[in-house]
Amino acid sequence: MQLIQIKPNAPATTKTTTGNGAFDAYGRQMTYLRISLTDRCNFRCIYCMPAAGMVFQPREELLTDDELLRLVALFAQSGFTKFRLTGGEPTIRPHVEDLIRQMKQFPGVEEISMTTNGLLLPRMAAELKDAGLDRINVSIDTLDPLRFKFMTRGGRLDLVMAGIEEAERVGIGPIKLNTVVVRGQNEQEVIDMAALSIDRPWEIRFLEIMPMEGVGMVYDEGLVTTEETKARLEMHYGRLVPVDSNPSDPARLWQLPGARGTIGFISPVSEPFCQFCNRVRLTADGKLRLCLLRNDEIDFREEMRGGATDEDLLRRLRAGIWRKPWGHGLAEGDLNIGRGMSQIGG
Ligand code: SAM
Ligand code: SF4
Repeated sequence: MQLIQIKPNAPATTKTTTGNGAFDAYGRQMTYLRISLTDRCNFRCIYCMPAAGMVFQPREELLTDDELLRLVALFAQSGFTKFRLTGGEPTIRPHVEDLIRQMKQFPGVEEISMTTNGLLLPRMAAELKDAGLDRINVSIDTLDPLRFKFMTRGGRLDLVMAGIEEAERVGIGPIKLNTVVVRGQNEQEVIDMAALSIDRPWEIRFLEIMPMEGVGMVYDEGLVTTEETKARLEMHYGRLVPVDSNPSDPARLWQLPGARGTIGFISPVSEPFCQFCNRVRLTADGKLRLCLLRNDEIDFREEMRGGATDEDLLRRLRAGIWRKPWGHGLAEGDLNIGRGMSQIGG
């Protein structure tokens, strides 16, 4: 497949200083922080972790609650308004509800969302809602229990479905479901996944698999492009209806004819959305990751543990974001990832 290269905006020669915002050299303002709360997980999805030999970081290398909250407050001071909790599996971080409750108190924090595999939602959704969680994305690749068990290496589909229903019941919405489409696994099942949007106001999002560390073969053989998935859906349901989407949202939205919900396509490989990127990631061990698919990171944990002041950290934050790379460079064959998705916070 020929990958598309998107030319960068002309880099600025002087720093943009509009208010307190954090801008990169291409004029993009960063307003969205994705936070990996842990590198651990209760699933082992085939496209995310290797079957065996996954090495987790010692707990003392991960940010403590106090360190994490300090950084979130500083990001909020720097113009970040949206925060997404992810992982690894964010629901297994001890006291995640307390973290959400405290983050919500910081001036500037407008929205806290979570990406989860949903397994623990049947018992946690009400508490998460009560703590202030605004929105949720649940990852679910198939509606076939056996296939689900295979793709997650042991997961229970019935519990995840119950978790999604519970999240909806307690009012965490709108519900979005993430499906990574993998050839030879679930590429035919996109038909059933899309059907969930007919009667429910849910967004069913189909993601192209990305070439993360530790899952090389699955990527090499597994990529199914958005074009192929869309064609498959249109063969079955007829032409999809376009829906307006926010340019900084990686999903391009469509609808099945007459459906209540929507279909989203996330195409980092075939149609990169780097041009409108407004996000950076904080890894569980306290590194600011400037681009999901590049190994360029800024260490906040060691700065904090070395006694840095808030002013030092704010300076480091702004200087780091200024050097955010233009794009992920997949089209240039520029693979420099170094970590798995569960360690970065996908
Ligand atoms: N454990 C949570 C979950 O699965 O939702 C949050 C962390 S997971 C790393 C975040 C998202 O990354 C999930 O939607 C997952 O499907 C997606 N993901 C993981 N590995 C991927 C890959 N190689 N390519 C594309 N998406 C991937
Ligand atoms: Fe765990 Fe999420 Fe990775 Fe699956 S995709 S192994 S649930 S972190």
